[in-house]
Amino acid sequence: MKALLTAAANGGRALGWGLADLILPGVCVACGAAEASAELLCDHCNVRLLSLVALPYCVRCGATIGPNIPIHDEGCWACPTPLPRFVRAVRLGPYTGPLRMAVRDLKYRHHDAMRRRLGDLLASAVAAQCSQETFDMAVPVPAHWLRRLSRGCDHASRLARAVAGPLGAPVGHELLRIRSTPQQTRMSRSRRIANVRGAFAARDPKTLAGASVLLIDDVTTTGATANETAKVLLAAGALRVTLAVVAKAEPPTAYAEHLGR
Ligand SMILES: [Zn+2]
Ligand SMILES: [Zn+2]
Repeated sequence: MKALLTAAANGGRALGWGLADLILPGVCVACGAAEASAELLCDHCNVRLLSLVALPYCVRCGATIGPNIPIHDEGCWACPTPLPRFVRAVRLGPYTGPLRMAVRDLKYRHHDAMRRRLGDLLASAVAAQCSQETFDMAVPVPAHWLRRLSRGCDHASRLARAVAGPLGAPVGHELLRIRSTPQQTRMSRSRRIANVRGAFAARDPKTLAGASVLLIDDVTTTGATANETAKVLLAAGALRVTLAVVAKAEPPTAYAEHLGR
């Protein structure tokens, strides 16, 4: 029966997330095992998720850094030049394994339990990394309205609420996406920078004046979108922008040494 459920879960994933949801509640969203807990991951994937969360990373760009390499406020060798406009990057882990599947669950299946889980974990990471900071608002990086429509939910706002809630910060929808941008998956960094330039605007500079903003996104790759949105917030009067992101997409070589691969 277990093998049947696992095979069906894998088949459901191949066909589409919705089908797997409908016929197999309770399977692990990462590996398809039939004994997922209330947190939607099996014990094995939960342990793997927490091992990704524990990896050391650069506090300026969010890239995983090697074992025994000190973490500097000034950044790492992989940081872009010039440094990002946000003062700090807090992330959960690299976009791989169970964390990648968890982010996909956030985007496409909208499980409240997964959003709460990742929201709580990211809020704890922000509280630990930014213990001296009081955030005036948490601002999601908005998707274009057409993408929100096609997904059937405002995933960015829901994620922002899940992170901001435990931190006691209000969510402010202060960023507007004023034009749609092509998917960036296969773009170089320079093309991504050009792709997002001018794609965002601030809703109301009066609200942002002097504010410490926690910018929230699900995945960052080169940081081009986070940097562009931070630039818009700062130009509108925000005092400081901190990035909180669930996952950093990076080459497997960035974290292979930690995972013994
Ligand atoms: Zn699993
Ligand atoms: Zn860095």
